[in-house]
Amino acid sequence: MKYVDPHIHMVSRITDDYQRLAMAGCVAVSEPAFWAGFDRGSAAAFHDYFRQLTTHEPKRAAQFGIAHYCWMCINAKEAENIALSREVIKLIPEFLKMPNVLGIGEIGLNKNTPNECTIFCEHLDLAATHDELVLIHTPHLADKFQGTRMILDMLRADPRIKPGRVCVDHVEEHTIRHVLDAGYWCGMTLYPITKCTPQRAADMIEMYGAERILVNSAGDWGPSDPMAVPQLIQEMRLRGMSESVVSKVVYENPLAFFRQCRRFSPPC
Ligand SMILES: [Zn+2]
Repeated sequence: MKYVDPHIHMVSRITDDYQRLAMAGCVAVSEPAFWAGFDRGSAAAFHDYFRQLTTHEPKRAAQFGIAHYCWMCINAKEAENIALSREVIKLIPEFLKMPNVLGIGEIGLNKNTPNECTIFCEHLDLAATHDELVLIHTPHLADKFQGTRMILDMLRADPRIKPGRVCVDHVEEHTIRHVLDAGYWCGMTLYPITKCTPQRAADMIEMYGAERILVNSAGDWGPSDPMAVPQLIQEMRLRGMSESVVSKVVYENPLAFFRQCRRFSPPC
């Protein structure tokens, strides 16, 4: 079955992972800008990272027949540094012209601090000004419920942001309903340790349906599995869910979300 991994950090993965993704049916990936595992020392480091995401990584993916899309921002962790964040945000408009950029992301909250909120709202302003899609990271574990509520409040406070053009990622059982009810797209992350297992994700699809649901591996430099989406495909099939529902979740939904970006050209 053809599928898309709408959230995976391929700059952190080896080339063999591209080979495995392609063999499993992956036709496209989207890569949000994120934390590198260490704090970068200058805006110039982000400029290089954005060049990597828009120029180098699409060529690497194309060698395996995989379309590569990406998202631009300063991540929630480094957003604690407001002065650096504002310098980085100023760099973003030039990259919004690149053909593989889908929008602003993954912005969000990490420890739910006032500085993170300030920079989150400045990213929303950037997205609204340039009419861009938004991809949102919700915090980990203990901070998730409160952080998701804060994020939904900030989104609602800016009437220029249309819910159908926003994906709130890393939802779990206690946050998914709030996100779907407010009209946003939902991302479920399949992780071997924290976040959802394929079984928990399939349970949520059974409970809430397939509308506006995306699933991803969020594969990165930490414990994660780039093959997580094929594992969910297998789990859904074992439960007797129809091929059309499986395909909607792993292929049609991500493309429907991406298609709202005016630069988007579909994978062949
Ligand atoms: Zn991520």
